[in-house]
Amino acid sequence: MGPQAQLAATTVDAFAHPGESTRVLLTHNGQIVPGGQFSSGENHAEYEMLRSDAWARTLAAVGRAGTAAHRVAVVINRTPCHFVFGSRPWMDEAPATFFAGLEARIPAARVDRPWCGCSMKLASALKAFWTTYPDARRNASLEFVLACRGYYDGRRTTPLAYRKQQAPTTTFDLGCLVEAGWRVRALSVGKTLSGRGQALADVLPRVEAWVAGGR
Ligand SMILES: [Zn+2]
Repeated sequence: MGPQAQLAATTVDAFAHPGESTRVLLTHNGQIVPGGQFSSGENHAEYEMLRSDAWARTLAAVGRAGTAAHRVAVVINRTPCHFVFGSRPWMDEAPATFFAGLEARIPAARVDRPWCGCSMKLASALKAFWTTYPDARRNASLEFVLACRGYYDGRRTTPLAYRKQQAPTTTFDLGCLVEAGWRVRALSVGKTLSGRGQALADVLPRVEAWVAGGR
């Protein structure tokens, strides 16, 4: 798979335009998982996906797949929102170092908060998957794709206090997703990237190099 991900024409409308509301589509081997469509309401759609039966069933199916080829793709109409840290210095580290001590440093309650930090929720969820299914690590034909239509840049019209909780995605957020095992891709619709999608595609090679260099 190249730097971009393609989306079937049937779902173009919902994902063509990055916006404030989140839309998530969970697919397994190219098929939409039953119950695998989510949109933001009270909570961001990524959070709803991570606590859904569809997600749990999909992980259980691919976790014990031996060496069979499986592609789990999470399609989002923007990048997952920024994880809000209690203090800043951790962000000077490479994602691998950060991840090594994640549980010790961040109380679980912070990662579990429903209203912010979907990038870290997704990264933590995949980290938990590899722990639960250690054999899956040896399956080179298993891949998790995070296909994002464009950069999330927060809500420009909301007060600063609120923006801190639903903040723009950072390079560090992307690094944590890559470190956790997500193949982050910019999503094309009709073979076209959005402006924010192009920005994402431009930065991803540097993020991947940064993560690889920190291991
Ligand atoms: Zn979010």
